[in-house]
Formats: sequence, structure tokens, C-alpha cells
Amino acid sequence: MSATVEKGTISINTENIFPIIKKFLYSDHEIFLRELVSNAVDATQKIKRLASIGEYQEELGDLTIEVSFDSKKKTITISDKGLGMTAEEIKKYINQIAFSGATEFVEKLKGEDAKDIIGKFGMGFYSAFMVSKKVEIHTRSYTEDEKAGSLWECDGTTEFSIQPKAKTERGTDIILHIDKDSEEFVDEFRLKGILEKYGKFLPVPIKFGTTEEQVEDGKDKDGNPKYKSVKKDRIINNTQPLWTQTPSELSDEDYLAFYKELYPMSDDPLFWIHLNVDYPFNLTGILYFPKIKNDFDVQRNKIQLYSRQVFITDEVKDVVPEFLMLLHGVIDSPDIPLNVSRSYLQSDSNVKKINSHITKKVADKLGELFKNDREAFQKKWDDIGIFVKYGAISDEKFYEKAKDFILLKNTKEEYFTIEEYKEKTSEIQTDKDKNQVILYTTDPAKQDAYIQSANKKGYDVLILDGVLDSHFINHMEQKVEKTTWKRVDSETVEKLVDKDEKIESVLTDEEKESITEVFNTAINNPNATVAVESMPEDELPVVITLSEFMRRWKDMQKTGGGGMPMFGDMPEQINVAVNGNHKVIRRILEAKKSTFKEKLAKQSYDLALLSQGMLEGKALTDFINRSSDLITK
Ligand code: ADP
Ligand code: MG
Repeated sequence: MSATVEKGTISINTENIFPIIKKFLYSDHEIFLRELVSNAVDATQKIKRLASIGEYQEELGDLTIEVSFDSKKKTITISDKGLGMTAEEIKKYINQIAFSGATEFVEKLKGEDAKDIIGKFGMGFYSAFMVSKKVEIHTRSYTEDEKAGSLWECDGTTEFSIQPKAKTERGTDIILHIDKDSEEFVDEFRLKGILEKYGKFLPVPIKFGTTEEQVEDGKDKDGNPKYKSVKKDRIINNTQPLWTQTPSELSDEDYLAFYKELYPMSDDPLFWIHLNVDYPFNLTGILYFPKIKNDFDVQRNKIQLYSRQVFITDEVKDVVPEFLMLLHGVIDSPDIPLNVSRSYLQSDSNVKKINSHITKKVADKLGELFKNDREAFQKKWDDIGIFVKYGAISDEKFYEKAKDFILLKNTKEEYFTIEEYKEKTSEIQTDKDKNQVILYTTDPAKQDAYIQSANKKGYDVLILDGVLDSHFINHMEQKVEKTTWKRVDSETVEKLVDKDEKIESVLTDEEKESITEVFNTAINNPNATVAVESMPEDELPVVITLSEFMRRWKDMQKTGGGGMPMFGDMPEQINVAVNGNHKVIRRILEAKKSTFKEKLAKQSYDLALLSQGMLEGKALTDFINRSSDLITK
């Protein structure tokens, strides 16, 4: 057979893009393998389709794709048994269409920050030149017989050659002659790593090398089993990952096992949502709700984005609603545009639709869980509350659905929906202006004295001690009409719900003034404001409160809620409410020596600090000494 070698120029009109391909995206050179393997997968899927519609009537045979390398020759080969190409098709698809596609991609890249291009899809076949000095395509189309076949060669210039070369098997071998400065890729460990990263769930089996397995091989003369090691193909991928299967045919164990496959070191997730959309866009996936640990950031970026089972990225910011970034799992959609920059992605209408669809699905699933099994939902609430609250704060549409299943937990570990809670507390916790006062604690142990006082009055106290709760409270105050949210220590219990019912004071105005003075001297703290109030006799002699407003700004700042920066640097302002009706006040007034007056005042004040866990160091030692002094006298 006389081999006619045809030479030509891939493109005359455009500039030579090869040097740019080589330089670009340096850190992402590894994606050449993803591109070539996914082409091999495409070609394999196509021959399967042709066979299924009767266009191809021969044996399909084993369709496994093989990736191999030769460390002496410095080559990497990707072989498929797909539909192959005729010489004419090579010219059309590789020389023309793929080349202009790559050119277009390179053009697009120039205007963007390379790091911004997620997925980097688009360069396709020509990404082979990121790592190769020469590329060969040896292929035979399913339409040709065994004596046929074509060999295309290109050495990284716009020149190419193409000639007939027989190929016994249908399909395509892509042979990369690796460049000197990319030889790191001609390495078993490296290649395996890349294949596992991008190809773990490809729909066609990918073989890479072999593994050895010990199998039983008869018995020795004593009757003990003998073993021999046999080589088996190492298949990189699971071709039918769970998200591609039918939800109704899957069990909880399947979902849990798949979770372990994705995140081998993680605890079991709380529950999951299987996404399955085909209109108006294509999207499948499984989103898992993990147990949230305190370390927020470690949990982010755990969702993996796939396009037809090819791994693209785990930076799904902008594709998944921000508040769901803490979820784990996979999303697979060929409709997410992958070869464009972030800024474009945010305004892309498909991405917006995907976003709102995911939001809706998650809200529906949570609503369903709540409705079907409230008990179980409550048990999970401490873990999932953070997602729901985050969603409620950051996404209006989500809040609209979530407001029916957001739960509020009180200090008695009872759970209420917002509506239920409003009803529960409306009678007793509505103030004179018809505002409902919702009381909460951010630290049940530390604020116990205040909680007890509130409970004694019949008030209920919510536990809102999560990292997001300061934002959540602000949000709820705006959303739930006619409510005021106050931390239980923000005022004395008398004033928490201002009903305009005053307790009579047993002190005269002069006595009040004198008491204020004693306390001011005893406390000697410029950040404390002393005021005498009338409280029930059995309340503590002194109650320390922190202004709700001031404290909230400080809290918000800690968790990064844009507020007024000046508050962050201000010392803690405390209000010292002296209970004018407490018996010790009478003792102070009647004491002869001013040192003793101050001693009693200081002791009362320290008791208040102590009840809040605010007494420490020297102040605590002084208090203990003073106490022992007082009980012996
Ligand atoms: P894309 O995959 O997006 O079409 P590529 O640049 O990756 O772009 O590939 C260009 C074209 O080359 C493919 O559409 C296909 O027609 C052809 N091709 C590439 N690799 C193979 C292969 N292994 N088998 C058959 N055809 C292939
Ligand atoms: Mg491709």
C-alpha cells in the first residue's frame, strides 16, 4: 500500500495559538487528560448510540478506555473503542472545528483572569499541546474496515500531516509525545491521581495499569490453601454513580455509602436531597446535609460540580446559592456554562434558574420532613438550624417557605414554630405598646440567674446561642411584626416587658440618692451606670444589665455583620440596677460607718457579677475574703 502523506496548514488566517496554549493556565495543565479522556468517553457513547439505533451492526466488544504511558519514550496514550474518525472527519473535526473552537477559547481567555475560568472547558483536544511537543491521532472509523485507518500528526506548529495507516481495532488512539518540561506527567502516581480526580465517575470504564490480587490456587500437601497473585485491570471509575440512578430504587444505605465514597473521613450526614430536573435545564445531583462542626470554613467548598459525569470543580460559589455552601455532595449539569468567567456566571440565566431551583428543592424537602415527622425534625434541628437560619437571612424566597418550619427552642428544650411561639407568649409578654417581647439567652449557663428571674415572672426564654443567631435575631425582628427581641440580661426583669405596672418604692428620693452615691464609690468603675429601681424583695440586691442595642452591634461585628466599627473598640458599658426594695439596702442606709456601707454595697455588686460569671482574678479573691470576713462577724 503506497502511503500518501498529505501535508497542510491547520489554519492560515488566524495566529498560531500553540505558544499561547502552552503558556496559558500553567497550573492547570493537568486538564489535558480530562479533555482527552472525555473525548474518548464521548466517542464511546456515540458508538453505543449508533448500535442501539441499528446504525452500527457489528459487535461492540469491550468498550473500556485505556490510559497508558511509556516512561522511556515519554509518551502517554489514550485509547478508545469509540466511533473513530475517517481522514475526512479528522480534517473537519480536528483541523477545522476543534481548532477554531480552541482559538475562540484562547481569545476569550485573553480578556479574563485565567483563575476566573472555572472548568476551563472549551479548549478541548488542543489542550494536548499544553504538555506535548507532538501529538498523533491514530484512528479508524466504524464505517471503515480493518485495512483502513488514518494517522494524523502535528508537532505544535500550525503544520499537520495525515496519512493512511491500518488499525486493527475500531476507535482512536491519541498518542502524546510529552514535552521536556512536562515530563512530570509521565508518571504512574501522577496520572492515576489526575484520572481519579476528574474521571472517578465517568460513564465508561477507564483502565489504567493493573493491580495485583491474591487468589486461592489449590491446596498444598498439608491441605492448606495456596495463593497466587494475579494481575487485574485497574479500573479507575464507578460508571454508575448514585446521582445517575433512580431515587426510588435506592436505600438509605446506598446514600450513606456514596457519601463515604465522596468524603471518606466524614461522619454520616443528617439527610440528603436527590435532585433530578430535566426542564427547563438538565440537572442531577445529591446534596447532603452534614453535621456542622464549629469550624465553618473547613466545611465549605465540598460540593463537587460535574458535567455529564466529568468532574469540573469543587468551587461552586455562584452556582450554588451562597447559603447552601455548607452542604456536601455533587451537582451534575451540562447546562452550566463552564468556559466563562465568574462575573458572567453570576448573571447567567441558567445559573440563576439552577440557583432558585436548588433553593426551592431544599426548602421543600425541609418542609416535607417537618410535616411528615416533626419529632425527627426537632431532633435534627440543632444541626440543621444553622442552614435554615442562614437561608432565611440571605434569601427572601427561602425565608418565605422556611418561616413555617423555622424552630425556636426555649430553655426547657421545647420547640416552637414562629407562629406557635407568638401565640404561646402573646398574653404575658406583650408590653404596653402592644409589642410582643421575645426574650432570649446566648449562654444559658452564664445567664441562668436572669433566666430564673424571667421564668419566675412567667416569661419564656429562647436559646439563641449559635454563631449566626445575632444576625437571625435582627432579621426576625424585621420580619415578625410587632416583636422586640431582648436578651434576658438586657434589662432588669421588671423592665423587660414594660407593662407600666410599677412596684412601689420603699425608699425616699433622698435615700435613693444616698444609695447611688455609696454604690458609685464602692464600685468605682467609669463604665458602670448606677440606678436605684424598685424590684420584688426576693430579687437579688443588684442586677447588672447590658444594653441590648450596644451588645448587639458588638455581637454582629464578631460574626462579620457590617455594623458601626466604633462600637467594637468601646469598653463594655454596664448598667447596675440596685434593688431599692431589698433588705440589704435598709442595712446600708442604717450602717454607721461609711466603710461598712461600701463593704455591703461592694459585696452586693460582686454577687451580681458572680451570678453572671463575670467575677474573676483579684476581684474574686477579694470577694471571697470579704465574704469570710462578713460571715464571721
Ligand atoms: P468537543 O469535545 O467539545 O467537541 P474537542 O476539541 O475536544 O471538542 O474535540 C473536537 C472533535 O474531535 C470532537 O467533537 C470529535 O468530533 C473529535 N474527536 C476528538 N477526540 C475524538 C475521539 N477520541 N474519537 C472520535 N472523535 C474524536
Ligand atoms: Mg472534548
